[in-house]
Amino acid sequence: MTNAQPNRIIAIDGGAATGKSSTSKRLAKYFNLLHVDTGSHYRTITHALLQAGASPGDKEAVQRLLSEMVLQTRIDGQSAQLQINGHSPTQEELRSTLVNQNVSAFAALPELRQALFAYQRDQEKVARMHHFKGLIMEGRDIGSVILPDANFRFYLHADEETRAARRAKQGETDSIAQRDKQDKQRQAAPLTCPEGAFRIDTGTLDLEGVIQQIIGIIENA
Ligand code: C5P
Repeated sequence: MTNAQPNRIIAIDGGAATGKSSTSKRLAKYFNLLHVDTGSHYRTITHALLQAGASPGDKEAVQRLLSEMVLQTRIDGQSAQLQINGHSPTQEELRSTLVNQNVSAFAALPELRQALFAYQRDQEKVARMHHFKGLIMEGRDIGSVILPDANFRFYLHADEETRAARRAKQGETDSIAQRDKQDKQRQAAPLTCPEGAFRIDTGTLDLEGVIQQIIGIIENA
């Protein structure tokens, strides 16, 4: 482990299909950062809970199943993947219609968010251990709750039509408006534009334009 490396911490928040993952992956490569997609954490846990037959309303079962989960990280190129008891679901499993339909209801449970809190904060250490020059983490509560001391906070947004077209192009059945509503209205760590965040409209810029705008902000800071 070396602490002499510059440790750049970037938080990317935004609603569904606002381009967080494409943007974060490109920035991770450009700045040599570890990329962490916290949406995939909620999807991985949702998949495991559904497999075990739990529903979001069954708090006792959820709590029991959460207490049996050992969370570990596997590094895959520039990205960190969550493993539960040594297993990560496939991308198809993570982005299935059933997971899309249930993930926001599970993510609204404070006990589930609590189970992920320390794990997500520890990703900064994981980045250092693997000699990355910092961390870029994307999600809904990164700049507000998980990494409030991030060096840079960005909030991505786009009009609903553009976002729905992106999901359709990816071949996914996903009610993005419904998920956003649930994510914004929940009590625990709701989706919000964090204080001091730069707002980036990904509906009016292409990916290259978004990347250049963000790199410009970071390099000129
Ligand atoms: O980013 P993605 O669309 O894969 O996230 C799936 C769901 O996970 C979100 O709709 C939200 O309910 C939940 N989530 C969250 N907090 C985060 C990241 C995702 O509640 N930091």
